[in-house]
Amino acid sequence: MRIQKDQHFLQEFDRYNFTWSCERCVHFDLPGDHCSLLWPHGDHLEAAARNPSVDFLIFCKEFDLN
Ligand code: SF4
Repeated sequence: MRIQKDQHFLQEFDRYNFTWSCERCVHFDLPGDHCSLLWPHGDHLEAAARNPSVDFLIFCKEFDLN
């Protein structure tokens, strides 16, 4: 799923400690910086939410809370 980022979304993102990224997913190998399910993960990293040049967040259907 893809969602447009805007200021309101980013404020709520921080206020509610929104959990969605690879870094919080049980399938993510943090030291190896890769998805253990071998999905391309660049769009699902926390940095994507913080990068002002990225207009959308793209959510992963395989996300599983760690
Ligand atoms: S399953 Fe999706 S959210 Fe989880 S680490 Fe892989 S790409 Fe990231």
